[in-house]
Amino acid sequence: MTENQNKLFAAASLVQKRAHAPYSKAFIGSAVLMSDGHIYSGCNIENASYGGTVCAERVAIFKAISEGAMTPIKEILVVSDADKPWPPCGFCRQIIAEFATEGTLIHTANLSGKIKTFSFLEIFPEAFTPSNLDDVK
Ligand code: ZN
Repeated sequence: MTENQNKLFAAASLVQKRAHAPYSKAFIGSAVLMSDGHIYSGCNIENASYGGTVCAERVAIFKAISEGAMTPIKEILVVSDADKPWPPCGFCRQIIAEFATEGTLIHTANLSGKIKTFSFLEIFPEAFTPSNLDDVK
């Protein structure tokens, strides 16, 4: 792992234990490294309505934005218990698109230390981004 991956993995695996996941039993942690060098973390927070559930990645990003972090996101890591590390879901990819560049690194990891890295462009090509709205007439 790189130094940044180590820091993100430590932050994400710490909060993974705090996940509120009584329905799926899937404990997920995430951490984002913002362009100002700060790291914010989040865990999945499920809701009895199911639709009110928020993924760990979105919790981490929303915390960063609400705390005044400088964008874009440089790197984001997601850790799960799964043998094959879970990638961000479609909702999270769209939220990442709002604050990422094509080169933002997306790390997926599991607790055994298996890690796979993608660029944002690889994981979400042709993303709808704020720049698409520049064409609105
Ligand atoms: Zn998600």
